Amino acid sequence: MVKTEPTVTVQTGPVHRSLKQAGLRLTRQRLALGRLLFEQRDRHVTAESFHQEAVSTGIKVSLATIYNTLHQFTGAGLLRQVVVDGGKTYFDTNISEHHHFYLEHDGALEDIPADEIEVLGLPSSPKGTLIDRVDVIVRLKKDTVS
Ligand SMILES: [Zn+2]
Repeated sequence: MVKTEPTVTVQTGPVHRSLKQAGLRLTRQRLALGRLLFEQRDRHVTAESFHQEAVSTGIKVSLATIYNTLHQFTGAGLLRQVVVDGGKTYFDTNISEHHHFYLEHDGALEDIPADEIEVLGLPSSPKGTLIDRVDVIVRLKKDTVS
């Protein structure tokens, strides 16, 4: 198989290091997307929003590549996936334990620190499974009264 993208070996930096540690091949495009995504802290993007952002900063990339890249970063433990409903998946650069407010009127997520929510009365998990984590999504609508 012919490699179509050159592997970048001379650059360094935190994004470069984490992609490398995650075992991802350091293509120019993956590095550019990684920088764009991780150099501002703690954000939630969808494949569509991140695609728009990438294109607007001059990275020529297809939505399918964005989608694959976000899934590769997730698989490597660099991102966390937050599924709000069947049709909406966000990718979260904050991979520590936390929960979310979902602002339904503008489709945005906001972090809630893990210690601000206490989950009581979890059922025991089915045989052969362990509870990995509990994600709480608090859905918000616009307060039209105040
Ligand atoms: Zn988050």
